[in-house]
Amino acid sequence: MKNMGFQPGHEPFNDFSHIHNLQRNCPEYRKKWLESKKGQTPWNKGLTKNFYKNGIKSGKDHGNWCGGAYGPVSTAAYKALTKKILKRDNYTCQECGDHNYKGRGSSIKLEVHHVVAVSEDHSLVFEPSNLITLCKKCHIATDNYGVKLINKRRKLSKNQSR
Ligand SMILES: [Zn+2]
Repeated sequence: MKNMGFQPGHEPFNDFSHIHNLQRNCPEYRKKWLESKKGQTPWNKGLTKNFYKNGIKSGKDHGNWCGGAYGPVSTAAYKALTKKILKRDNYTCQECGDHNYKGRGSSIKLEVHHVVAVSEDHSLVFEPSNLITLCKKCHIATDNYGVKLINKRRKLSKNQSR
C-alpha cells in the first residue's frame, strides 16, 4: 500500500492523446468514430446570438463599452499607418532606445503608442504626431496602456460619485 496514488512515470488517467491520435491517424478508427456521431445533434446547432437570452448586452449597452474608441485602430488604414510610424522612428523604442539588431532576432516587440489615448481624443487616432514607437515593455509602462486607463477612469468616476 506504500506506492499508491500518482507516481513518477505514471500516465495521467485523463490523457486521451492516444484516442486523439487514432482519430487523426487511423482511418478505420476515424470512420467508426464519425459513424458513431451520425444522427447526433451538434451542441451549438441553431444557437445564434438571438437565442442567448441571458440578458448580456452587447456594444454600447455593455458595461465595458468605452465609446467604441478602438474601432479605427483595427482597420487596415491604421495598420498601414503604424508601419509608417515604425519606419519613421527607425524601428527603435523612443523611450529606452532599444531595437532589434542582427543576431538578436525579433525579441523586442515594437508597438505604436498613442500619446493621447484613443479613447480620450478620437480625432488623434490617425495623427502621426500623436503616435510613437515603443517597445512592449515601455508601452505597458505608459499610463494609458490597455486596461489601465479604464481602471483609472473607474477610479475617477468612483471618486466623483462620492
Ligand atoms: Zn522601450
